[in-house]
Amino acid sequence: MPIEPAALADLGPARRRALFERDAGIDAVRDDVRDIVSRVREEGDAALREFASEFDGVEVGNLDVSDQAERAYDEIDDDVRDAIETAVENVRAFHEAQLPEDWTREFDGRELGRRFRPVERVGAYVPGGAATYPSSVVMTVVPATVAGVEQVAVATPPAEELNPVTLAACHAAGADRVYAAGGAQAIAALAYGTETVDRTQLVVGPGNKWVTAAKAEVRGDVEIDFLAGPSEVCVVADDTCTPEFVAADLLAQAEHDPNASVVAVTDDEATADAICDAVAAGLAGRERADVIEAALDSDASGVFHARSMSEAVLFAEEYAAEHLSVQAADDEAILERIDNAGSVFLGPYTPVAAGDYATGTNHVLPTNAGAKVQGGLSVDTFLRASTVQRLDEGALADLRDTVTTLADAEGLEAHERSVDVRFDDD
Ligand code: NAD
Repeated sequence: MPIEPAALADLGPARRRALFERDAGIDAVRDDVRDIVSRVREEGDAALREFASEFDGVEVGNLDVSDQAERAYDEIDDDVRDAIETAVENVRAFHEAQLPEDWTREFDGRELGRRFRPVERVGAYVPGGAATYPSSVVMTVVPATVAGVEQVAVATPPAEELNPVTLAACHAAGADRVYAAGGAQAIAALAYGTETVDRTQLVVGPGNKWVTAAKAEVRGDVEIDFLAGPSEVCVVADDTCTPEFVAADLLAQAEHDPNASVVAVTDDEATADAICDAVAAGLAGRERADVIEAALDSDASGVFHARSMSEAVLFAEEYAAEHLSVQAADDEAILERIDNAGSVFLGPYTPVAAGDYATGTNHVLPTNAGAKVQGGLSVDTFLRASTVQRLDEGALADLRDTVTTLADAEGLEAHERSVDVRFDDD
């Protein structure tokens, strides 16, 4: 169904809630997901096999398919292998540039520092339901290996025959283990372990509403990156944009999932009309038109016109999209005014798909306005920072009154004593 432009000024409270508090269908599956997670905790591999049969329509033999990765890498077409290697190289280069250095500095005689160490065992979820996502292998495994993670396990939905490109990407990116498990059950397996799946300490990666609800469910028992659910894009455009480019970016993110959310906002009414026309024209002939139409139909999607670029920018800021594209003459000035975005794409020649695959930035990004508090996957996700301090006698003497006064105020006498005992006058 072609989408109609709407004026931001005309949006009622219900529509604004649908846009700004979008949940991509996650809330509605929480109860089902809780049951799936507890079945995997109790029954292990047997539950993984049963859910594979129920949700993926596959009778799984071996859950551990690690041995298939290298063979797939050798057997796939040369041009696909080259494309994977280019993506790995670009993602590795950008993430190596993020590696922080340990540091120590003196603060008035106190020697203080931070040191960064990788998490040991990571589980990476790689989606593979409606589409397959070898790119998500690259985006999760490469930053983990750059950070120095020892064991990276990938879980991806089972299939009669696993996607060879996903398997090949596991080999190219350096995954240590590959499991054929999908959905909420895979997240539970990585979080709690089963007979076959090793328990991990940190579970990362994108997925649909079941995967995302499962990450929210296990959070606390295991560390997670953040909620990276059904895809989103917000395009901020002015009358200098090419409406077909804007429409192409909307259609591309919409094809991920019927629960995807795609919006464009412009300060020019004629541009909004032209974007809608281009969406309708671009939809014709798309292979995944049914998925795209479902996403466009959502109240969390739409093409809007604002009374000014300031109003458009405020909308984008409140929407806090996973992907923000700016296709306007003064893109840098617009960027200056936006804080809430997972990843930003500037200018007409920076389609979101370029970052999805190969610019080097990460495509695992927070959805559902998570960008207000959270950035995307990065080397930092896989590192923990400890702080280190050393005082000599003089530095402790300088601090003595402050510490003992505060310890006294908190009623923690043994804390006070642990400082005083170090001085002769006690
Ligand atoms: P998926 O692997 O996320 O989901 C497939 C699994 O869903 C199946 O293995 C099955 O176990 C489970 N499932 C299907 N129907 C179910 C049901 N009725 N009940 C319980 N479980 C069920 O693959 P997908 O569906 O193709 O989705 C991929 C998702 O990843 C998309 O939403 C896409 O937008 C998203 N994505 C997000 C980001 C990000 O960073 N935010 C990046 C890439 C992709």
